[in-house]
Amino acid sequence: MTPDLLSNIDLLTEAIRLSNLAYLAAALLFVLALAGLSKQTTAQRGNWFGIAGMVLAVGATILRAVAVSAADPTGQHPAALTLMLILLAMSIGAVIGVLRARTVQMTGMPELIALLHSFVGLAAVLIGFGSAIEPHGITPDMETFHLVEVYLGIFIGAITFTGSITAFLKLSGKVKGAPLMLPARHLLNLIALLMVLGLGIVYVGSGGSGVLGWLSLLAMTGIALAIGVHMVAAIGGGDMPVVVSMLNSYSGWAAAAAGFMLGSPLLIIVGALVGSSGAYLSYLMCKAMNRSFVSVILGGFGSDGGAPAGGDDGEHAPHTETSAEQTAQVLQAAKKVVITPGYGMAVAQAQYPVADLAKKLRASGVDVTFAIHPVAGRLPGHMNVLLAEAKVPYDIVLEMDEVNDDFAEVDVVLVIGANDTVNPIAEQPGSPITGMPVLKVWEAGHVIVFKRSMGAGYAGVQNPLFFHERTDMLLGDAKASVDAINAAL
Ligand code: NDP
Repeated sequence: MTPDLLSNIDLLTEAIRLSNLAYLAAALLFVLALAGLSKQTTAQRGNWFGIAGMVLAVGATILRAVAVSAADPTGQHPAALTLMLILLAMSIGAVIGVLRARTVQMTGMPELIALLHSFVGLAAVLIGFGSAIEPHGITPDMETFHLVEVYLGIFIGAITFTGSITAFLKLSGKVKGAPLMLPARHLLNLIALLMVLGLGIVYVGSGGSGVLGWLSLLAMTGIALAIGVHMVAAIGGGDMPVVVSMLNSYSGWAAAAAGFMLGSPLLIIVGALVGSSGAYLSYLMCKAMNRSFVSVILGGFGSDGGAPAGGDDGEHAPHTETSAEQTAQVLQAAKKVVITPGYGMAVAQAQYPVADLAKKLRASGVDVTFAIHPVAGRLPGHMNVLLAEAKVPYDIVLEMDEVNDDFAEVDVVLVIGANDTVNPIAEQPGSPITGMPVLKVWEAGHVIVFKRSMGAGYAGVQNPLFFHERTDMLLGDAKASVDAINAAL
């Protein structure tokens, strides 16, 4: 060995020691980030912990990769080239990421997140194949473990990849939101899973090599890609929030699987954090929507026996309309007002005038609170983010459970761009949203609904609230309507 190489090996030992320490610190920072993100008041701090952890993790990984190249006795991977390639790849990713983040509308976030999840899935599949083609440092006693981790990693990654792409297409409206109901779909899923299991036994039995090994791996990948599409395609529009959080969880497990294949403890920790927090979020979303997790995953819950999407039977009483000026008068006379925002407030970017309106009313002695449905908007916490952005005080932003029994004591409810989340039809059998708890705004003295037309909400179900005797419709863009009310006040 040349003295140069020897000193490079010393450097490598030092780099590994340092990077291990950095990984440990990064893992702690990620835990703190999650803890911070669990409350609005500490969310910003949580984000900073996450950013610091990521900078540390990326820095340590670059240091490690460069040191490994420098200590390579074959000299095939010059350290300078390794560094350049990493920086080049990161710069391309950073430019695309920054451009996309700057241009994305808040309403486009769910589909962007779904797309990002698909990258994690694809990365796990590619790492799996890379590891299958060129296993590094695998001793004979680790071989079976390595084969299982490659097989599982590719399986989870492939489902995450196509599942997320399908979710992206559904959320962005590029394919229809209605669930795909294949005949005997549960049987199809079961057969697919049994085939995956059988192929896994063949793959591990063949030692992962030879025609049999490769064919079984490729066949399983194809099946997993198909499962991903089918699983998400079968989920009805109203249940999409669970899909978003479920794919978030899958992407975590895919990252953890990649961590096993790459021998990266940090990736395993981060993947497990994302995987388990995503799973818990899915559980919370299911609870909020009164769905069983298994039924949602098995698909089709959003449509079984339900009314056809978009279905308005046209047999409603005529609706009554109101104006901004009349609404301003009603609000001035009210003692207790509740505002229930929904997706339309996000589309109209009405959160700032809405915050102004709340401020004005509070200043004149009206008791104003916001009631937030857990799946309002298109993202978990969507409305909380918008209201926080508009500086609405946290203590007047209440969860559904905190207000739902008190609507009878409310004088006026302003439903701003919400629809499915205030739809009383959810309390009757036979609709796609049946069973989902909704804000019981119709129990209030007077309801004013802000939207542009009499059309249905995300789940495609007509809303009897609009035709209720105590409801008035304020038709038009929510921002323009609230601006006009503010002017009138
Ligand atoms: P909905 O999506 O049911 O309805 C939003 C309403 O806003 C529409 O009826 C629309 O009516 C109105 N609207 C749109 N643009 C404007 C505008 N510029 N001004 C005024 N009104 C406007 O809203 P909800 O928040 O009540 O329900 C959320 C739905 O999304 C649920 O079905 C939920 O399951 C689903 N979902 C939620 C996710 C989450 O994580 N939160 C993720 C994926 C789906 P009009 O066109 O007539 O104006």
